[in-house]
Amino acid sequence: MDNTDCILCREPVTNPVCHACLADAVAQWIAEEAPERIEAFWRETHALDGADGVRCVHCAKPVGVCTYCYTRTIFNWLRDGDLQLSFVDYFNFDFYRDRPYQDRFE
Ligand SMILES: [Zn+2]
Ligand SMILES: [Zn+2]
Repeated sequence: MDNTDCILCREPVTNPVCHACLADAVAQWIAEEAPERIEAFWRETHALDGADGVRCVHCAKPVGVCTYCYTRTIFNWLRDGDLQLSFVDYFNFDFYRDRPYQDRFE
C-alpha cells in the first residue's frame, strides 16, 4: 500500500503535487528575485527527493512532502525578511492563518 503521508508533517497528502513540480514555479520567481541563489535552491529542493508516496498529478513522480511543507522549507531557507514577504505575496501562501504574516518579521 502506498504511504500517503508527508515525510515532514506526517499529515496525509491531500493535494498531490510533487516538490519538483512546485519548484519549477518557485525557480522562476528566484530567477527574478535572487538569481545568485538558484543553484542553492535546486540543491535544497533535491534534498527532498527519494521519498515514496502518492503520485504527483502532473508528473506521476512520488510525492514525499506536502505542498505546505515544501513551501515552508523554501520559506525558511530564504532567511531574508524582504524575500520571504515577497515569496508569500507572490505565491499567496497562507502559512500563518491565525495572524497576519507581517507579525513574523517585527
Ligand atoms: Zn507536510
Ligand atoms: Zn510532479
